[in-house]
Amino acid sequence: MLDKLYFKKQREAMVKQQLVDRHITDTRVLQAMLRVPRHLFIPSSLRPIAYTDRPLMIGNGQTISQPYVVATMSQWLALQGTESVLEIGTGSGYQTAILCELAKRVISIERFADLARKAGHALERLGYDNVEIHVGDGSQGLSDMAPFDAIMVTAAAPALPEPLRLQMNPNGGRMVIPIGTRNNQRLELVTRFGARWAIDSHLGVRFVPLVGQHGFADTLPPVET
Ligand code: SAH
Repeated sequence: MLDKLYFKKQREAMVKQQLVDRHITDTRVLQAMLRVPRHLFIPSSLRPIAYTDRPLMIGNGQTISQPYVVATMSQWLALQGTESVLEIGTGSGYQTAILCELAKRVISIERFADLARKAGHALERLGYDNVEIHVGDGSQGLSDMAPFDAIMVTAAAPALPEPLRLQMNPNGGRMVIPIGTRNNQRLELVTRFGARWAIDSHLGVRFVPLVGQHGFADTLPPVET
């Protein structure tokens, strides 16, 4: 039986070997990744490998991102604790929990109701009360609640979705988003100053597609109701 202490040790090793040794330096990000129990966001059969250096399947053909990618994207947002953050692609809710630790308020959108529900339960059980999960097409953002100080997109987009760009805080708002083809993307950091958007392109990554109006077309046939 794997216990709390076992997972805590695994988490400490993950932070040291996968993050600190690979130059993740934001101490708030490192603290958050030490605190959040990643194993509680994945199917129980995968718990023994929760802290390994890889993404894992979480159901509905979706994945929980590799710890290093979660840390990198979080670090790029440079959160101080005062921000309102929009996340697109709740998935397991693990990245959502990290954002809850780092920001004031988190709004997360997931297209699969089933994943949104499970993520919501996991977050609630852990006591996060600064988060709201919405079911819908996150490629359109959430204009009612904009602007956002930070936006994190955890699914790959073919281009920068226009609504998300416009929902960034004009006063230095930041967005991290993987942009490219279905198979290959680069992580981009977008910063907004008024009507100017600065874009830095970094790390090569591979995310599941953002499916929606401003994302890729769905390859599955529509469900008949
Ligand atoms: N951050 C998540 C990663 C999940 S994978 C985690 O740590 O577990 C990406 C998620 O984006 C999937 O759950 C997928 O269903 C969701 N997704 C894809 N397109 C979307 C869209 N247009 N709106 C909302 N969610 C979307």
